[in-house]
Amino acid sequence: MHFFGAHTVATGGIHMAAARAGAAGMHALQVFSAMPQFYNDKATVKPEKAARFTEAMVAAGIDKQHCIVHAAYVLNTASPEPEKYERARLGLAKELERTTALGVLGFCFHPGSAGSSDPVGAAERVGDAMAFALDRVPESARIFIENTAGAGRTMGRTPEEIAAMLARIPAGARARAGYGLDTCHLFASGHDFVSSPEAARQVLDHFAEVIGEPPSFLHLNDSEGELGSNKDRHALIGEGKVGVDPFRWLLRDPRTHGIPLILETPQANPDIAEGDATADPNDVRMMALLRSLAA
Ligand SMILES: [Zn+2]
Ligand SMILES: [Zn+2]
Repeated sequence: MHFFGAHTVATGGIHMAAARAGAAGMHALQVFSAMPQFYNDKATVKPEKAARFTEAMVAAGIDKQHCIVHAAYVLNTASPEPEKYERARLGLAKELERTTALGVLGFCFHPGSAGSSDPVGAAERVGDAMAFALDRVPESARIFIENTAGAGRTMGRTPEEIAAMLARIPAGARARAGYGLDTCHLFASGHDFVSSPEAARQVLDHFAEVIGEPPSFLHLNDSEGELGSNKDRHALIGEGKVGVDPFRWLLRDPRTHGIPLILETPQANPDIAEGDATADPNDVRMMALLRSLAA
């Protein structure tokens, strides 16, 4: 019922990321489809790369419907600057094209910053960029907004903002759009899911009620920063300010069943050799912890 995985190290290619996930006993995975620090508005996924990835996913025993792509960080679809915005929405469409070529569930992205502009207009621009990408790439992967840690004027901190973005998607494409929640970002942006099991349920309820649907994935990260600190610093589960118990409470909620549950926590061996498919020791430890919490 719980599909745990991680954004594993991809040195050697995303097929190696899949192999390392399989070695760690994962049933979900997150990858980048191109270098995340660039717009990649020209980058495509070559058929050979997609085939190698598919083969590795089969060998790892991971269903591609439990795999998501994390989009480039630089795509600011909330930007009020026309040139930046145009580049961001083209980049978003390209992400969707690459995600579709990989045959995975969808991709998640950070909505970006409103800058000095009005957040209402910024949310509309984000939703319009999603609609543009969905129209350009009519099949078949999905786009998920990721909630953010809420630093500065970044968008996507509240369910109201996410709902305003999704409201811009035409009805015919709406089923291909959704959102996911990062637990570190929730905590950093002041959503208290840590004080009691009821608090954890209420945070999920609040997002589901305002947006009209449950999250399509979770990023399971502890937080180095305090509640409401707006700091996007991930920690190993149980080694940050969230602690272990809130993760147990979240995993008890049926809304965490059937969706990718992805660790983005520090890895012990990020400099692993290209051809080495050994599981990361930290990932192995986190997987054991998550399984014990869900039992
Ligand atoms: Zn993210
Ligand atoms: Zn983060």
